[in-house]
Amino acid sequence: MKLAFCVEDDTDEEVFRVLVSKALGTEVVPSETQYRFARGGWTNALRLAPIIAKDAYHKGLDGALFAIDNDGAAPTHSVTHNDAAKGCRLCELRTAARIHEPLSWPRQGLPALRYLFAVPVQTLETWLLLARGHDFKGESETLGRDQPGRAKLKRLLYGMEHPDRDTMRSAALPIAESLDVNALAEVSPSFADFFSQLR
Ligand SMILES: [Zn+2]
Repeated sequence: MKLAFCVEDDTDEEVFRVLVSKALGTEVVPSETQYRFARGGWTNALRLAPIIAKDAYHKGLDGALFAIDNDGAAPTHSVTHNDAAKGCRLCELRTAARIHEPLSWPRQGLPALRYLFAVPVQTLETWLLLARGHDFKGESETLGRDQPGRAKLKRLLYGMEHPDRDTMRSAALPIAESLDVNALAEVSPSFADFFSQLR
């Protein structure tokens, strides 16, 4: 299946491509067009989401994946939220994407579009560190709420705060490729929510 990946950087796209491929048991190919949420560009992400959701339809893709780190936003998502939950990044992103519009358009024999939303708490590095077995000592949901915390997550995963792309890739991809999605869902509510969209 071919998806538009709207993520924060190239490593995120590769990690999410692997995670979706594993969970769905099918090869996932990114669209030729690269969509990027700028880091820290939350307002811009909300503006871009509906444009990308519709673009996936017009380009004849199978859907789109939207992923942005939680970065300390509150509240974090809960199954009790309705779509209007104020401050919850997952709910706000989903609402902003207005996917009911493209989902209502004719597909002429193509399978229904799939839209996936991921907001790792607090960052994608958290998911990868949990998958690697890192012991957060009870802080897995809170570390990364502020900038020093996010720098620490990078040091833990990559061994440095400002890794280059090759360093990120060589640390992140083997974890994504070997991780047990069910085990990660048990220790990370934000991953469990993402995983539930894939089942
Ligand atoms: Zn929510």
